[in-house]
Amino acid sequence: MFVGIDAGGTLLKVAYREGEKFHVRKYPIAELEGVAEWVNGLENYKVCVTGGKSGVFISHLQKEAKEMVEFEATHRGVRFLLGRMGRTDTDYLITNVGTGTSIHCIHGDSHERLGGTGVGGGTLVGLGYLLTGVRHFDEIVRLAEQGSRERIDLKVKHIYEGKEPPISGELTASNFGNDLFSGAEDMPKEDLLATVMGLVGETVSTVSVQTARQCRSNTIIYIGSSFHENDLLKEIVVSYTKLRGASPLFLENGEFSGAVGAMISLESKEKETKI
Ligand code: ADP
Ligand code: MG
Repeated sequence: MFVGIDAGGTLLKVAYREGEKFHVRKYPIAELEGVAEWVNGLENYKVCVTGGKSGVFISHLQKEAKEMVEFEATHRGVRFLLGRMGRTDTDYLITNVGTGTSIHCIHGDSHERLGGTGVGGGTLVGLGYLLTGVRHFDEIVRLAEQGSRERIDLKVKHIYEGKEPPISGELTASNFGNDLFSGAEDMPKEDLLATVMGLVGETVSTVSVQTARQCRSNTIIYIGSSFHENDLLKEIVVSYTKLRGASPLFLENGEFSGAVGAMISLESKEKETKI
């Protein structure tokens, strides 16, 4: 069995292949030792580990493991997942919205990290919790989907009162920038969480479209567990990216790119194309 592990800041992602079957799973990073025990109990396996916590994970393994630089694994996984979707793109930007957000430019086999932002999935959970007391990602997403940003965000049209704005009035002029000094006490959780989602989605897509120009690429591939069953974040990112003239793309199982890339790095070239 070939096992790829991506041990990130928040979640540990696993991809493995048994015969022709390909599986993915994810765990809270606190379960790192349990996953290492599972690997230790396997027979006949090879494991490759990537991500910021790869060293910690490897320290719990009994057998030798391969270690891979995170971005190499991610790039390889993205290429593989694109292929499974029948796409042959070679030039694109990858925006990985994990705990934080990291942005890389790809041209064929070459890649370069062009930047990122500390606003990411960790912001969604952390700021969301501070504002509302809601802890779980799934709950944050569910409530945000029922909320409205109308009372909290300031739109361009609110500033250009009675006057035609030079850019779309529907754009956000200031996230959380509306007049909040009256009535802030009874702000519904749903609205607060929807606004946090807006802040994260608009920040990551704004930084991405600017970086895409520098990369001379029009396609932005968004990955990371922040998008997991999170249609609202996807919608915000898609509309903002399109508005700025770039093409957004989400990969099936995109949050497993690093783990998948680590897994296929263990296999021969011929096998790699078969999965
Ligand atoms: P990392 O590689 O840094 O661990 P991920 O790509 O796994 O990052 O994304 C982590 C983010 O995904 C979290 O900050 C959170 O917003 C979101 N997320 C999705 N599912 C979960 C979950 N079950 N538990 C916690 N966070 C989750
Ligand atoms: Mg990660």
